[in-house]
Order: sequence, then C-alpha cells, then structure tokens
Amino acid sequence: MAIHLGTSVQDLPGIGISAAKDLQRLGISSVRDLLWHVPFRYDDFSHTKPIPLLRHGDVVTLTGIIKEIGTHLSRNGRVKLTEAIFENETGVLRVTWFNQPYLEKTVPAGTRLSLAGRVDRRFGSATLVNPVREVSGKGLQTGRLVPVYGLAGSLTQFKMRQAISSSLPALREVTEWLPDEILASENLPTLSHTLALMHTPDRMTETEDGLRRLAFEELFLHQLLFAQVKRQRSTCSACSIPTDVEALRAFVAALPFTLTKGQRVAAWEIVQDLAKEVPMNRLLQGDVGSGKTVVALLAARAVLAAGHRFAYLAPTALLAEQHYRTCRLLIPHVSCALLTSAHAMLDGEEMDRKKFFECVRAGEISSLVGTHALLQEGVELPELSFLVIDEQHRFGVEQRHALLKIVDRPVPHLLSMTATPIPRSLALTFYGDLEVSTLRERPTGRLPVRTEFIGPGQEQIVWKTVQEEVESGNQAFVICPLIDFSDTFDTASVLETAKRLRQGPFKGLRVSVLHGQMPSAEKESVLFDFAKGKADVLVSTTVVEVGIDVSNATVMVVLGADRFGLAQLHQLRGRVGRSDKPSVCFLCPSSLGQGARERLEAVVQCQDGFVLAEKDLELRGAGNLLGLNQSGFADFRFATLADVDLMKKARNWAEKILSKDPELLAYPFLRERTRRALEEVHLE
Ligand code: ADP
Ligand code: MG
Repeated sequence: MAIHLGTSVQDLPGIGISAAKDLQRLGISSVRDLLWHVPFRYDDFSHTKPIPLLRHGDVVTLTGIIKEIGTHLSRNGRVKLTEAIFENETGVLRVTWFNQPYLEKTVPAGTRLSLAGRVDRRFGSATLVNPVREVSGKGLQTGRLVPVYGLAGSLTQFKMRQAISSSLPALREVTEWLPDEILASENLPTLSHTLALMHTPDRMTETEDGLRRLAFEELFLHQLLFAQVKRQRSTCSACSIPTDVEALRAFVAALPFTLTKGQRVAAWEIVQDLAKEVPMNRLLQGDVGSGKTVVALLAARAVLAAGHRFAYLAPTALLAEQHYRTCRLLIPHVSCALLTSAHAMLDGEEMDRKKFFECVRAGEISSLVGTHALLQEGVELPELSFLVIDEQHRFGVEQRHALLKIVDRPVPHLLSMTATPIPRSLALTFYGDLEVSTLRERPTGRLPVRTEFIGPGQEQIVWKTVQEEVESGNQAFVICPLIDFSDTFDTASVLETAKRLRQGPFKGLRVSVLHGQMPSAEKESVLFDFAKGKADVLVSTTVVEVGIDVSNATVMVVLGADRFGLAQLHQLRGRVGRSDKPSVCFLCPSSLGQGARERLEAVVQCQDGFVLAEKDLELRGAGNLLGLNQSGFADFRFATLADVDLMKKARNWAEKILSKDPELLAYPFLRERTRRALEEVHLE
C-alpha cells in the first residue's frame, strides 16, 4: 500500500485498534502526525566493540548468536530472570533480562540477532542487562542512533519506531513553506529533510541541525503573525479613555489592603496609556502572588467608569471564575458576565447560552470575564476598549493573535500579564517594542516560602509535615512530572504516587488526583473541590501551575524536582504562601544527575522569580530542549528562551519580508501557513 501524509495510522502494518487508540491519546491519527512526533532523545547504539574489551557502562550493539537461554526466579522470588549466553566472533558474553520469560521462546538457542544496551561489570564478568534485541537486521532498534519517543498507554518504543519507519516514505509529500532565501542564508535543512534527520539521524549533530530548523520555524511563524497584527494595529487608533483620578484614589483607599509601590506605578502607567489614542500594548509581569489582578481591575474600573467596555481573558475556567468573583467584589456597581465552557453567567445568575450571546452582541454587557471559550464560540465583543489577557503565555501563539484580530475600530487597548518573568532584553527581542511594567515586590505581610531540598529516598519527613499541616486544617499539593508510570523516565507519576500515598502515609486523608489527560469538566471539579477545602492533598501534574489561588494550601511537595526548570519550580512554589500562614516547599529530586543539585539549591536560596529566570537561561544552554517541556513557553514545542539568536533572526526575517510584501503576495506558502495557523484556533 502506498503511504501518504493523510493515511490513517490504523492502515499501517502492526497498528491495530488498541495501538491506534493509544496514538490518539498523543494526538496522532495520521501519518502526518506520526512524522511530526519527533523523538525527545536518542540512545546511541551506533558503537560496537570486541567482547573482551567491554568496560562497565559501555553502551554497544553486538551481533551474534544465542547459545543457551533459560529462566529462573531471583533469590528473593520477586523477579523472573532470563539468562542467556551470547557468542560472536570476538568472544562470549552473559545476557540478563528481567521479567521477560517469553524470550525463551522468541529467541531460542541458535537465534542470530543484534543486542543493544549497557554493559554491567559490577559482578565480575561483563553482562548485558535488559538489552534491546533485533532479529531482523533492519536496524530499527540497534546498531545506530535509536530514537526514543513519547509513548502512551501500552505502546512500546518498538511499535512507535515501526510505525514511524513505515511512515517515512510520505516525507516526499511534505512541502516546504520557508522561503528559499531564508533556508539558504540561515543554512537550514528543508522540512522533509529535517524530519528525516530527526527520525533517522546518522550523527547527533544532524539532530541539532534539525532541531534548529524546527525551533526557527516556530519562532518565525510567531514573529510573522505577531508582526502582521502589529502592523494592522499600528494603523488603527484606540479610544482615549480619561481617568478620573479622584475616583481612582477613592477606589484604592477602599481596598482591603495597601497597594505595593510596584502596583501603584504599574496602575499609573496603564491608565496613562489608556488616555492615549495609540493602542496600548503593555505587558505586566510580576511574580506569582505579586497582585497583578488588582492592577488590571483598577484599570478596568477606570474604563468602566468612563462608559467603556472591558474583557478579561484567563487560560482556565477556574481562574476565570476566580477573576469573575474578584471583579464583582471590587467593581460592584457594574454588571459583570462570565463565560467558560461550563458557565454563562450574568451578575451571579446562570443564563441560557444563546441568550447570553445575544446580550453580548447587542452590547448589553460592559464587563466580561472568560476563557478561550470566548474564542471558540466566535464571540465578537462590539466596541471593546480594553482587553486583559491573564497568563498570556498560556494562550497559544495563534490564539493570542486571533484575540487581537481586528473586528472593529477603534481597536482595544491591550494589557497582557504573565508570571513567567522574561528578562527584559529577551522580552524586547521576543515581543518587539512593547511596554513592560514590572511588579517586583510581594505584598507586605507575605512570608517567604521556606524551601527545602530533600535528597532521594528521604521523603518520610515530607509526608510527616503534610500530615501535621492537614491536621491543623491546611492543605497540600504534591506535584509529579508524569501522569502514569513510564519505562523511559525514572521519576514519580501522579497515578502511582496517589496510590502509594493513599495506602501508606496518607491513609485517612482525602487525596485527590489531577492531570492534563482528564476530561476538562472533571479537572475543573477536582480543582474547585480542592479550592473549597473538600480535599486535603492534591496529587497533580503541573496543570496547577497556572495561577490558582488556594490560600489555605501551605505545603508544596515537588517530586521529580530535577525534571523541572527553575522558573517552573518557582511558579509551583508560588501556589503556596498566599496567606499570612507560614508555608513550605519541598524539592524532592528522583535522581541527582547533571547539576540537578546546583539548580535546586538556586531555588532554595532565591525567592526572586526574575533572578531565577536569568539563572535558568544561563544554566540551560541551547540544544537542551529535548525532554519534558520545561521552557515555560507553553506554545513552543522546540524553541526555548535560550534561543535568543534564533529569535532575533526570526524577527528580522519577519520584518524584512513584511516590509517589502505586507500581504505576502509573493510568498504563497507563507500566506497559507499563517492563514492555517490562525484557523487552527477554532478547530481545537
Ligand atoms: P498574581 O500576580 O499571581 O496574579 P493575584 O492577583 O492573584 O496575584 O494576588 C494574589 C493575592 O494577593 C490575592 O488574594 C490578592 O487579593 C492579594 N493582594 C494583591 N495585592 C495585595 C496587596 N498590595 N497587599 C496584600 N494582598 C494583596
Ligand atoms: Mg494571576
């Protein structure tokens, strides 16, 4: 059968219904999706050695014959050990597999095969432990740089490698969308060549070239969309919204707390922008808990008081509802609406969705808080004067641009907010000439979060603290890098951890589970219940990273902490310490490879998100982006904050091309690609 990009995965050899379902969980349904499923790392099985020269720790491929094979129980009776004697022209070697007794049948004595894995010499003679095996001689799993892919369900690396390998012929159909001039002067491989390099590299340097292209492509598309919107907006004017300074003072005086200096300065900068006819494009950055919401609402109040409309977008339903409540509390005399996928509310009353949209369209709603449900349902807000996007990096590049699509003129003033601080130099490169306001200090009365490093295997003390805190009526988060057990990553998973804790240390406590693969309604109800105090402990992936405010939570436990970037750890820590109660954050690495200790110590020592963001950049060189997405740049798969040079290049190219050809008339592929990017927003 001929393989095309559109071929369904089920039509590939070796992919049945259950494998297709597992692939679906990874968002893969066609050959095209498989080709874009690039490996997150490689096992280097390209070397071989004569058996007598093997040293402890060598990673090799050996080809030869199984002379003997048999299975017995380990001494403690827990593990089935399959042991084999393997021979080739250089010598004889022992091979051990754990819990794979069927190998006796699949590779009986006399089988000729290739084995690839790590040599263990701790017990005298060299042994190959749990090697990958390959009888066919096809070189899918041995004898080369072997790609390691993200998996789900009961998929195996072998199955994935096989599926991708049978998809490779479809690469001939992959069209290039980057202009030749860019490929040539930046020395980037074409798209089809890039994907071939990623899946079947001969050398590691080839994967670096491929990765560079993929990162550039993302950044360039972003910059192109960004520059287009900017060009359009710069030709439009916005409403000048004057501020009644006295009214604003009264509002501030009535707040239940005193604003920090940073909050006052930022609010002032924003209301000054609002008074101009040039559309505001300001980023408000401030660490978690620095109080960005109230700054945004202060400006919103001024907008509403002047008879204008305002919308507040949040990345999750929970946040939207939180902001909705705050908004109604702080701006009580204006009617306020909420739109999420579950709710359409006006002034605290649930409303019929259709009627709700009619009200919006008729311009009867002047203050609207919502999630991207707003985008998906194609809501257009007439005469919107002020748009706030909270946690803006959580919105995909395309979503962000769709938000700014010009529906009518004058265009709204825009305030984006982020708790992922970006060093200023980078913000300028990345966002171009936007204004930045920064909240540096935390509101007074806030205690710093005590942060402790807990060595592998020392977690007992952590569980004890959690129990004590729960007994005093507080709550705890336990964060894990993975959802479910994985062979590939030796680190904590939500499902296993929850099970273990429920059976052991947290017997009798109310333990909830939360992760990104749960249906979103279920996710929301778990988060809500936790926020309401209906659970004591929330075992979760980093989905809780996004600004939820559970002031009763006093303990944050991060398992597998070595897997997270500094900025991300800091974000997680910010989930606690949101009241005047003392809080603690435990960083528990699963292992201490590659400078993990140093990185974690930085988080222990430092409570300043900006400093940590700089440090993150410094420690994390370019090319270190395979693996779990640690970049905090949710919308990028390949580019990280460390790719500053690429970012500059992407920006220069976008500007160069758009300045000579704003409509991209001479660049049909670019035009098509940007159009598709903007359309994808509505498809999700
Ligand atoms: P973030 O910047 O992470 O979005 P929030 O706006 O959610 O932070 O604020 C965190 C908490 O701090 C909220 O409960 C808010 O009411 C409170 N807060 C904001 N500003 C101050 C202040 N100046 N003094 C005391 N508490 C404040
Ligand atoms: Mg916030």
